Amino acid sequence: MELESILLPGVSSQRPVIIAGPCSAETEEQLMTTAKELVGNGINIFRAGIWKPRTKPGGFEGVGTEGLVWMQRVKKETGMYIATEVATKNHVVEAVEHEIDILWIGARTAVNPFAVQEIADALKETQFDGPVLIKNPVNPDLELWIGAIERVYNAGIRKIGAIHRGFSSYDKKIYRNLPQWHIPIELKRRIPQLPLISDPSHMGGKRELIASLCQQAMDLNYDGLIIESHCDPEQAWSDKEQQITPDILSYILHLLVIRDTKQTTENLTELRQQIDQIDNDLLAILTKRMRISKEIGQYKKEHNMPVLQTQRYDEILDKRICEAKELGMDGAFMKTVLEAIHEESIRQQIEVLNQ
Ligand code: PEP
Ligand code: MN
Repeated sequence: MELESILLPGVSSQRPVIIAGPCSAETEEQLMTTAKELVGNGINIFRAGIWKPRTKPGGFEGVGTEGLVWMQRVKKETGMYIATEVATKNHVVEAVEHEIDILWIGARTAVNPFAVQEIADALKETQFDGPVLIKNPVNPDLELWIGAIERVYNAGIRKIGAIHRGFSSYDKKIYRNLPQWHIPIELKRRIPQLPLISDPSHMGGKRELIASLCQQAMDLNYDGLIIESHCDPEQAWSDKEQQITPDILSYILHLLVIRDTKQTTENLTELRQQIDQIDNDLLAILTKRMRISKEIGQYKKEHNMPVLQTQRYDEILDKRICEAKELGMDGAFMKTVLEAIHEESIRQQIEVLNQ
């Protein structure tokens, strides 16, 4: 993929890019008050949902088109860029008509290839030229997320970013949506130029979790943050537990520790060389272990002995785990490693037996 920067003119290229604003546009006054407070705190990209995908019918489903007019007013009076979610062709057409600068595809839409394709086609037809951000689908399916990104890319959009908002689970103990950090990390490995933006608001679901989730995203080298901010969170019409005032947002952002990625990489070179060497040694040792294991397999075959001798395996496992613990290793980790090695040994011995 050949991607272009999502940074619009005047937006600082320093990490993190911040997009902030209420979950939903509710009234013209709420939108203007929040926007003015945010711009006063140095934020220059404003988000607000105009059409809200709600789990159950009967709730507040967004103010619709009139909210787009208020967004235009925000843009005109504060100079901020404006961003909203689109879920249908019609949303794209209306958003473009109202000069929305940045569009995002929500998590409930990203799961549906038909819906994403409809949006991608509309982006092409309307010749939308701004950044398009694609949230992870609600379910932890990396290929589906990449598929949505590819659909938008194939429509000719080059300013693409990914928003990590976490993944739905039945058991919502701590997080509203589980982070499953390895999924966006793998996405970044697959598409290295793709900017990654974290959405701690929808991930945490509670305002108390926002600061630590922002810091984690920064420590994992994310490019930006999209955070829900409302002038009066307690009165918000949607997602009120996770919204914070512009002042609190500013406080959280000032406390963030942004580590210098280049600097650390240089200093790490020597240690990484040592790790490479150790990994090579590990490979050589494992290969040697498997060779010996095969020889044992051959012996067992010649003497008509069974491949698996449970008692010996249990003894070995317990002994090794004790030894590992004495060396300061984690017992559960060592058990996983040894079990994987043992499983492969058995597989190889069965192969010998069948030759
Ligand atoms: C939102 O950003 O307000 C939203 C609805 O988020 P998500 O699609 O991540 O649930
Ligand atoms: Mn929300």
